[in-house]
Amino acid sequence: MKHYAKPLAKLISELSRLPGIGGKSAQRLAYYILSLPAEEARSLADAITDAKANMRYCSVCGNLTDVDPCPICSDSSRDGSVICVVESPRDVAAMERVKEFKGFYHVLNGVISPMDGVGPEDINIRSLIVRLQQNDVKEVILATNPNIEGEATAMYIARLIKPSGIKVTRIAHGLPVGGDLEYADEVTLSKAMEGRREL
Ligand SMILES: [Zn+2]
Repeated sequence: MKHYAKPLAKLISELSRLPGIGGKSAQRLAYYILSLPAEEARSLADAITDAKANMRYCSVCGNLTDVDPCPICSDSSRDGSVICVVESPRDVAAMERVKEFKGFYHVLNGVISPMDGVGPEDINIRSLIVRLQQNDVKEVILATNPNIEGEATAMYIARLIKPSGIKVTRIAHGLPVGGDLEYADEVTLSKAMEGRREL
C-alpha cells in the first residue's frame, strides 16, 4: 500500500481485516468514510468504541449483552425447563426472530475444532453443565450448525449430559448442510426446531 498516504493506508488495512471484506471493499469503504462529514465519521467511530466498551458476555448464558444477566436470562416469563444450545450470539438473534422458542439459551461462543486447536475447555461448555446441575432443566436442544464441527460439538455435549437423564435433542436437518443457523429463514429454522429428534 505504498501509494496511499499513511492515514488512508492504515484505515484500509484495518477495514480489510474485517470478515468478508477484501482489499477492494476495504478501499471503497475507506474512501466512503473519508467522504463523510466529520460528524458522521466520528459517530461511526464512537459506535464501535461504545459497543466494544459496553457489550459483554452474559454470565449466565454467554450471550452478548449490555446488562448482566442479559434480558433473556432475566425474563421470568420464559420456560426454564428448556435450554437451546447455540454457537454464537448471532444464532440467538436468529432464533429470537422466529419468535417461537420460549426457553432459555446457552451460547458456546465457538465450536470444538481440533484442526483450529479449539478443545471443549475453550468454549462455554463447563458453565452449561453447572447450569444444568443448578436448575430443573428437562430438555437441552443442541442447535449448533449442521457442519462437521457443529455435529462433533453436539455429540460431545450430548455424551456429557446423557448420564444426568436430561432429554437431549438435536435440531432437524431442514437446514442446508454446511449452512449457518443465522442465515436460515424463519420457516426453515422453525421446521428445524419442530423436527428435532432425541439423541
Ligand atoms: Zn443471558
